[in-house]
Amino acid sequence: MYTDLLANLNPEQGEAVTLPPVNEHGQAQSALILAGAGSGKTRVLTTRIAWLIQTGQVSPIGVLAVTFTNKAAKEMMVRLSAMLPINTRGMWIGTFHGLCNRLLRAHHKEAGLPSTFQILDTQDQLSAIKRLLKGLKVDDEKYPPKQLQYFIAHAKERGQRARELAVGDDFQAKMAQLYEAYDAQCQREGVVDFAELLLRSYELLKHNEAIRTHYQERFRHILIDEFQDTNALQYAWLKLLSGHDGSPVNVSGAGTSAVFAVGDDDQSIYAFRGADVENMRLYEKQFHPLMVKLEQNYRSHGHILDTANHLIANNSERLGKNLRTDAGHGELVRIYDAPSDHAEAAWLIEEIKALVSSGIKRTEIALLYRSNAQSRIIEHALFSAAIPYRVYGGLRFFERAEIKHALAYLRLLENPNDDTSFSRVVNFPTRGIGARSIEAVQDAARAQQCSLYLACSTLDGKAGSALGGFVRLVDHMREATRHNTLPETVEFVIQHSGLIQHYLSEREGQDRVENLQELINAATAFIAEEGYGQDAAAAMLPGENSPGAVEVSPLAAFLSHASLEAGDNQAQAGQDAVQLMTVHSAKGLEFTSVFITGLEEGLFPHENSINELNGLEEERRLMYVAITRAKERLYLSHTQSRMLHGQVRYNMPSRFLEELPTDSLKWLTPKAKDARWGGGNSGRSSGSTWQDVYTRQRESESNDFFDSGSERERPAKQLGRVGSAATSVRRMASPPRGNYPFTIGQNVFHTKFGEGRVTSLEGNDADARAQVNFKRHGVKWLQLSIAKLAAVD
Ligand code: ATP
Ligand code: MG
Repeated sequence: MYTDLLANLNPEQGEAVTLPPVNEHGQAQSALILAGAGSGKTRVLTTRIAWLIQTGQVSPIGVLAVTFTNKAAKEMMVRLSAMLPINTRGMWIGTFHGLCNRLLRAHHKEAGLPSTFQILDTQDQLSAIKRLLKGLKVDDEKYPPKQLQYFIAHAKERGQRARELAVGDDFQAKMAQLYEAYDAQCQREGVVDFAELLLRSYELLKHNEAIRTHYQERFRHILIDEFQDTNALQYAWLKLLSGHDGSPVNVSGAGTSAVFAVGDDDQSIYAFRGADVENMRLYEKQFHPLMVKLEQNYRSHGHILDTANHLIANNSERLGKNLRTDAGHGELVRIYDAPSDHAEAAWLIEEIKALVSSGIKRTEIALLYRSNAQSRIIEHALFSAAIPYRVYGGLRFFERAEIKHALAYLRLLENPNDDTSFSRVVNFPTRGIGARSIEAVQDAARAQQCSLYLACSTLDGKAGSALGGFVRLVDHMREATRHNTLPETVEFVIQHSGLIQHYLSEREGQDRVENLQELINAATAFIAEEGYGQDAAAAMLPGENSPGAVEVSPLAAFLSHASLEAGDNQAQAGQDAVQLMTVHSAKGLEFTSVFITGLEEGLFPHENSINELNGLEEERRLMYVAITRAKERLYLSHTQSRMLHGQVRYNMPSRFLEELPTDSLKWLTPKAKDARWGGGNSGRSSGSTWQDVYTRQRESESNDFFDSGSERERPAKQLGRVGSAATSVRRMASPPRGNYPFTIGQNVFHTKFGEGRVTSLEGNDADARAQVNFKRHGVKWLQLSIAKLAAVD
């Protein structure tokens, strides 16, 4: 009977799907499917779930499957429903964050959280940190909020609480102390950040034997897609849940659950976020998995695949595998050299129009870029040409200011002690609550160790009456919506909070009003999708049936959804639109035609990574991911000049273009090919000033690093590696001619950034610049005529 499921697979895929989940001793047997892009890993994983269920080896509630994005989770459920007559709604299929949220909701008490706990996204987290520093009167120049945010996330991703950190110096000791204070603040306010979702549920499983045993017995099959991008904590979580951590429950080490991991080391692109491809090697050692390699690619035509294979062969650290296709060579990969970013955008429009008129659907066309900032000009061109498009991973719907304001009110209905939400809207729209009153309530809350909301009632005078009004407004909205449906509640809140009126009176507020109305639609869609009935007030999380499971209100579920959702709601659903996204967001997806734009040195590969070998190899993997998204047609473009962050930059074409097989390429602009290495170009750095680079770093730092589409400054890497990589990297730039007071490799000190080491030198005289890898602040370019840089030793 199950042969039906296997009919659409090749023999290796079939073997992978049907690997025995139990060994000859009757113990759980794990598996690792290591295979290149487009070889059917996701298809195999989905079919494996269907096969396990169909053959009666597990029931749908005994499966836990981890995907990389919410979108992928939804797709997997749709595919499963098509394969088997089962209801996938209650199944535990989701991202690590989504699954941990679900676990914590079910066991909030044991996890030490209020039932109404709210999730802080990265922006909320940053404002919570700023508030903390202000309250503690900490100098935020010395302890920048962003840096503390990174410090906390990084520690949590390694599973470390503040007390467990080894602190080397006073600075780190202070950071650890602030981390602890931050955790205490979150606890008081009943909020958790993204990394906390994982760490808290890890600790829950670790310390609560009854819950751990329950889930170990329940989830006999754990399946993970995109395994190469798991971080240390996720790996530890997996070991714990599958009984592979040598805990007393299972001293034999065989584990209680069979883990089925699929991954591709060549597509590991989240090292900057703590992901560690080393986990694949650890997994081999610790889980003793059966291994299957898949080498047949079903996605891309030959030239595209050759291009990808050729490029990735330049990386040194690979587990090694090949890809072949039966699809034939197909079309050559097209390369376009544009004089400017505007010209690039104009060319894109023409090509898209031609593709569409040849019958290709717009959703089958993807425009990929390395950095979010590149999308603006492309969006503008698409807009002007009236071509519908959709941006993934840009400013997400739920991250827009007006939406966050509305959500803050809704969160206060759920949990009035959420100080982040309180602070966000206490005087928005303005209701005459001044900075003095806010300070007064903050002081009172600190003194009494309570939330801002509770502290309001202790104030008198002007502050007391102004804040009392706000508290009454929130209480009134809560009371009035008690018996409402979710969309009614949302509507009531955006009306009565004054948000709609506020934006209606703003000159350019129309968009924001429409977005607020869209939030009501999002609530309606959420109710329909999640299957809440008419009497929704007491609905449980769908499919929930664990011990101690709590009833979660639709509002609470919707708020979690808003924090975790990867922003699919921003365009009119179902419209045939061109797809715009960063390469990071494109992981796992495929399109008939793909454009990879902005292939320029400093942009792709990104300048933060090019002087460091690991960084460069990760950029190359990113390029590999980009190329392998294409099924039939691939375009690569670069421009000679580009306006980025308010400055014109003149960039050299990306070194990656040089690494592609010439037989598979077709240059649409032949002259550009010669211009590339023939000289005459002013070099990749001539348009970048120190301020330019510095601003850019600040901007990339401010991006949301939990959003798969975003990027941020790479954490400082080991200095030792920099020297050799820098030499090979510099081969295309003009050699430094200036008389520098510094040399590469020299230790230096900067009044603001502290200690560092020079990793590169460029430019001349007044224009001379040094790239320095600072111990605490990472890599920065400094203009030597301005920067206060002193040689050490
Ligand atoms: P990535 O590494 O990019 O995540 P993947 O290895 O997960 O890729 P899939 O997305 O599962 O690959 O498959 C790539 C494409 O090939 C999909 O369109 C899939 O439906 C198709 N495919 C996979 N296996 C087969 C097969 N045996 N026959 C026909 N098509 C297949
Ligand atoms: Mg996949």
